[in-house]
Amino acid sequence: MHDLVITGGVVHDGLGSPGAPVDVAIEAGRVVGVGKHVGPARRTIAAEGRFVAPGFVDAHSHSDALPLMTEPQPFKLLQGVTTEVVGNCGFSVAPLDEVSARYVDDAWGDLLPGVSALPGSFADYLDRVEAAGPTNNIAPMVGHGTLRLTANGTRRDLSDDALATMCALAEEAFRAGAAGLSTGLIYVPATYADTDEIVAIARIAARWGRPYATHIRDEGERLGEALEEALEIGRRSAAKVQVSHCKAFGPENKGKSTLLLNTLHRARAEGIDVRGDQYPYTASSTFLVTLLPSEASEGGVEELKARCADPEVLRRQLTPGSWGPTTAEDTVIIAHADASTVGRTVADVADTRSLDPFAAVCALIAEDPGAMVVEHGMHDDDVVAIMRDPLIGVGSDNGAPLGMQHPRTWGCFPEFFGRFVRERGIIPWEEAIRKATSSTARQFGLQHRGTLQPGSIADICVFDPETIAHPGSYTEPDVTPVGIHHVVLGGTVVVDHGEFAGVRAGDVLRAGSS
Ligand SMILES: [Zn+2]
Repeated sequence: MHDLVITGGVVHDGLGSPGAPVDVAIEAGRVVGVGKHVGPARRTIAAEGRFVAPGFVDAHSHSDALPLMTEPQPFKLLQGVTTEVVGNCGFSVAPLDEVSARYVDDAWGDLLPGVSALPGSFADYLDRVEAAGPTNNIAPMVGHGTLRLTANGTRRDLSDDALATMCALAEEAFRAGAAGLSTGLIYVPATYADTDEIVAIARIAARWGRPYATHIRDEGERLGEALEEALEIGRRSAAKVQVSHCKAFGPENKGKSTLLLNTLHRARAEGIDVRGDQYPYTASSTFLVTLLPSEASEGGVEELKARCADPEVLRRQLTPGSWGPTTAEDTVIIAHADASTVGRTVADVADTRSLDPFAAVCALIAEDPGAMVVEHGMHDDDVVAIMRDPLIGVGSDNGAPLGMQHPRTWGCFPEFFGRFVRERGIIPWEEAIRKATSSTARQFGLQHRGTLQPGSIADICVFDPETIAHPGSYTEPDVTPVGIHHVVLGGTVVVDHGEFAGVRAGDVLRAGSS
């Protein structure tokens, strides 16, 4: 007697094979049979008219601390996502010491409501998340930004022993099971790092067989140079490279998806194992402070606030590529201590305050250094070209599912399947499912995940290809997706007839222990 069978659906293996009308049998958390007449079970899910696919694997998540919240946060499960790779863009929430933990809380105004950053090793963080019980699986990477913050504060130049400290902390994180090394080279203090510094740490990742995932230094004007740096790091360290949230940003950079894709394919031909991920939207989202020159944040949050009080000095330090490709009309504030600014463009706030846009940005950061924005700056042609490339997987780049966020937080995967696969026919279903499952699982070494075949861990999404969608928008993003009927996590039904079952059944996936 099986624990669970899913009958009558069209089963996708996650490897890109065409769907097949077969049943799936699950026992002790694993898929034990895929075929006709798999036998009886204690529970049957009838999946007529639906697709039965591996649970989606989110290549690019920022859910690191969400499992620590009092209430479970099922927003990913409700999209069919069973595993998230977290710790992206150089931001992991460990390792931290007293000083760096305080900085993180000051800069972000606490990690999350009710959750502050805690000093501790990477292993401590994994234990803490495991004890809390995540709602879905998480595979955490260690962030270079966090390593640098802990080893060297927010200073630009490294102290004598800082790189050795970063390497030792990275080694410890990989031993504990970190899924990879990430960088976010537009953020302070990571942006102060030169290529050699990152190569030194990426070599440790490579020795442990873990990938290097990077939010590159520039996604617009200097996209080509920024990609070359990522590839140089891959070449010199021998780590696999994952280019995070691939895009060509800013109206002047329309068409640069060709440069991006050609560069990735050329690098693969040269022997560098590089891939990428993407969220299916023409707007990005990040901290408002990234629009300032990197000098602004040197020394800490109080120094940043003081510099923002005198925008003229900062204005002279502006380089093309930071403020450059963004327009005040296309930048919308989505999180700020002054709630009256949320949902409005920088241009609009500047107008109300009789300031020019740059001065308004400085004033907004002085009031709330953790302010966040959505920036409308990509062309649909580039989004689609990147999506069509087989090297690119799906990664949401979500924020916390609280307040106003980019709709990708609640809707990335249903938006991808509903809008781009069903409505627009950009890629076939089986290829889209592969991009959302095995493609990412393989890149991050997630064994027995992202596939649906005998022996796979029973992480499964049952969805309706005719209705899957995210009805949210930029102005009303926090809407539950439709068309996701059942989600199974390690054999446990965690989304049942579209409703979260209330259980915290996720695992912390430690690399190197299966
Ligand atoms: Zn990023």
